[in-house]
Amino acid sequence: MIFAGITKSSLLDYPGNISIVLYTPGCNYDCFYCHNRSLIDDLTEKVSMEEVMELLTKRIGLIDSVVISGGEPTLHSDLIQFLKKVKSMGYLTKLDTNGSSPEVIKKCIKEDAVDYYAVDYKAPISRYKEIARSSANAIDVLETINILIKHNKLFEVRTTVVPQLSLYDLIQMAQELPPIPRYVLNPYRQPIEYLESDEQLIKTPPYPELVIAEFALTIKLYQPNVILPF
Ligand code: SF4
Repeated sequence: MIFAGITKSSLLDYPGNISIVLYTPGCNYDCFYCHNRSLIDDLTEKVSMEEVMELLTKRIGLIDSVVISGGEPTLHSDLIQFLKKVKSMGYLTKLDTNGSSPEVIKKCIKEDAVDYYAVDYKAPISRYKEIARSSANAIDVLETINILIKHNKLFEVRTTVVPQLSLYDLIQMAQELPPIPRYVLNPYRQPIEYLESDEQLIKTPPYPELVIAEFALTIKLYQPNVILPF
């Protein structure tokens, strides 16, 4: 397992738990608004496994959980082995994923490696590739979500409400998704690092939180468990 970053203590990344967040490098998507752009292509290790294990060992009993985020963690072949090691130390585990690897999620479930999943749903099916680019494909993401439902797993789905998505798009997405136990609508925040060619997309003014709150009232008709993190 290679790590590109670490947050030693977070109250925001695992609902109801204090967590250590580990970031893996590499992603198979290329969302224009990515806040971890440096992780997409740079596969170099920035935090050694020794450092990670030392921190995890020291924080047993002080921190509840470990979140594996990215990049896209499911691209790493030793992910499940690592998650199981973390669980054997007494931590709860959470996996943040773009949902592109339903087969890996099936294996995580079979191995009981993850306690809580967060899956991004980025755009309506017809616009998925436009927003998340690269190999992005909504059908894989929907398959991932349906697998989690079928196996009765704890999970949430998250959508970043970029200004390029209309209320119509958001309604369509809410209709495409099966009923979600916790559906988080995150406001768009401009990333510090972005591609020069994306400047116009990036600098489009975000929806004010009040507007997203109004959107959420409509989305609630289709996804009753919609949550606003503000
Ligand atoms: S899926 Fe996540 S890590 Fe990958 S490009 Fe999109 S926002 Fe960035």
